[in-house]
Amino acid sequence: MSGITIALSKGRIFEETTPLLAAAGIQCQEDPEVSRKLILGTNRPDVRLIIVRAADVPTYVQYGAADLGITGKDVLHEHGGGGLYQPLDLRIARCRMMVAAPEGFDYAASVRQGARLRVATKYLRTAREHFARKGVHVDLIKLYGSMELAPLVGLADAIVDLVSSGNTLRANRLTAVEEIMSVSSRLVVNPAALKLKREQIRPMIDTFGRAVAAREMALAS
Ligand code: ADP
Ligand code: MG
Repeated sequence: MSGITIALSKGRIFEETTPLLAAAGIQCQEDPEVSRKLILGTNRPDVRLIIVRAADVPTYVQYGAADLGITGKDVLHEHGGGGLYQPLDLRIARCRMMVAAPEGFDYAASVRQGARLRVATKYLRTAREHFARKGVHVDLIKLYGSMELAPLVGLADAIVDLVSSGNTLRANRLTAVEEIMSVSSRLVVNPAALKLKREQIRPMIDTFGRAVAAREMALAS
């Protein structure tokens, strides 16, 4: 039996993927928030899930350690997307990649004056490309999380991070000053796996596609 392995991250993406998996007749047998197992069985003997760090999903799929994966456009953009087939925007885990700065900082004026900005982010590639496109000189400082703290303690003038409600920004007296891109999660597929396991993978992609469309219809009405 040639089984299918799907790479997912815990938290938001797992939660929002669960209904899509259910639509494809896949139910996880354990809750990854509770279980410490990294390989989770499903009700389908031919399908298993692996739980990896969000930023690692493209890597597992690219090397074929997982056949399918679900990952944010933010992560894909940093990874580059090489060696991945991206058939479907799942329209889950939606948010925006933003530049944010302290409420008192006049970002637009600094940019106009050609100031050199210190920007903290875990999205180095996205940030580099964005500021290069705008012709803004930046020193990028790589962080792994809690970017909101950086401007508050003088590590950076601004940050590049994901924003959905804006609550974290507000709680730390930051404001979003520029949108870089809108973000949602995508289905990614290993191209060789798609060829070899086409009879299993193709119907899954189609089912996910129909579930996404049905969900959008329900939300719109
Ligand atoms: P990690 O802490 O490992 O970076 P997160 O759970 O914070 O993982 O984020 C995983 C993915 O969820 C991100 O790559 C992004 O696509 C999505 N995401 C992150 N923050 C938000 C948010 N505020 N709203 C919606 N989706 C988000
Ligand atoms: Mg996070």
